[in-house]
Amino acid sequence: MNFNTSLLHGGVGEYGHGSTQTPIYQVSAFSHESSEKLEKVFSNQAAGFAYSRIGNPTVDAFEKRIAAIEGGIGAVACSSGMAAVTMSLLNLLSAGDEVIAGSGLFGGTIDLFGDLTQLGITTRFVDNVTADSIRALINEHTKAVFAELIGNPKLDIVDIEKVSEVCHQHGIPLIIDSTTATPYLVHPFEHGADIVVHSASKYINGGGNSISGIIIDSGNFRWNTAKYSGFAEYKKFGKFAYLAKLRGGIWRNTGACLSPFNAYMNCVGLETLGLRMERICDNALKLAEFLQTQEGITVNYPALEDNPYFPLVRTQLHGKGGAILTIRAGSKEKAFRLINNLKYALIATNIGDVRTLVIHPASTIYLHSDEKQRESAGVYEDTIRVSVGIEDIEDLIEDFGNAVRLSKEQ
Ligand SMILES: *Cc1c(COP(=O)(O)O)cnc(C)c1O
Repeated sequence: MNFNTSLLHGGVGEYGHGSTQTPIYQVSAFSHESSEKLEKVFSNQAAGFAYSRIGNPTVDAFEKRIAAIEGGIGAVACSSGMAAVTMSLLNLLSAGDEVIAGSGLFGGTIDLFGDLTQLGITTRFVDNVTADSIRALINEHTKAVFAELIGNPKLDIVDIEKVSEVCHQHGIPLIIDSTTATPYLVHPFEHGADIVVHSASKYINGGGNSISGIIIDSGNFRWNTAKYSGFAEYKKFGKFAYLAKLRGGIWRNTGACLSPFNAYMNCVGLETLGLRMERICDNALKLAEFLQTQEGITVNYPALEDNPYFPLVRTQLHGKGGAILTIRAGSKEKAFRLINNLKYALIATNIGDVRTLVIHPASTIYLHSDEKQRESAGVYEDTIRVSVGIEDIEDLIEDFGNAVRLSKEQ
């Protein structure tokens, strides 16, 4: 099955009455004909659903489709991307453990690592997640390496093959936040990643209408129970140990479940992921090339030939650079004027919408970070992040051209 076909047919089940799409089971609980039956459902001895925090057919349909699209053995949907990031880590970390992560991560994830220090979990940040940078920091407490495939908004790209090789030499899983790359650009499991998380609020949904997240397991990582003692009682699940522990433990107990309605919206949205990304990547490259010709503007977009990550874009991302580009306008005032003069691009703190969105990260997403944190995340006073949409490129170029010109007028 090729990619666009997999979006329509991968992991799709029998939904009853010949229904071509999953129905929305907008219910909290499921009744059963006898106590014996409900006992079996509760103890996983019979298929079925009991309570939507623990499992729901619409959410299940979404999980199966994403697992198929990513090539994983299963997936667990969460109430948000942040819930997915949090659960993916807490499923394997305990007090005293360490994580290695990139400093250019999404702001919410950086804040989360701050919160985890209260639980006795230490994060060691590296400027770029590379084989050498992580090798230097791995010690007996290191339990995971966490990286964004394409950093948002730094737009640095991780070489998954090289990084996962070092992780595996040390018996550590590599968790990849693949939100900005999407399965359209890369299937991280094929390059050695062990666990993938997405903020499905973004490209998977595509329409900017449902906050949601998902965790997918490759099933390839072997959990050494001497190192990961919490996995001892899940060893019997074999390659499903991580998912069984997640579902039976922290995910279910924190109540981070996805609503059936949002799962349904994602099932509809994901079907056009390929078409949208093809158009978006095309638009983003053309807009980046245009902005490069504008005086006083510097552009960061990985698919530009002079970008340091261009070789990885070619080898790992099929030559596509994704939807996000950042530009520097020269000063905060110019950046604000440029943004305020855009006609089509909406000023909003989101990415992955069909509409083009812009934001000034330093005064919003990175408001709580200090200058050093901002700079290592590629955020300067004059940086604008653009999440390119599916508008006609001629209109976007005209819009940005006008706004650049007006930004220079006092
Ligand atoms: C948006 C985002 C998140 C958080 O997802 P929410 O759905 O907003 O909770 C995590 N990682 C990346 C890369 C994101 O862009």
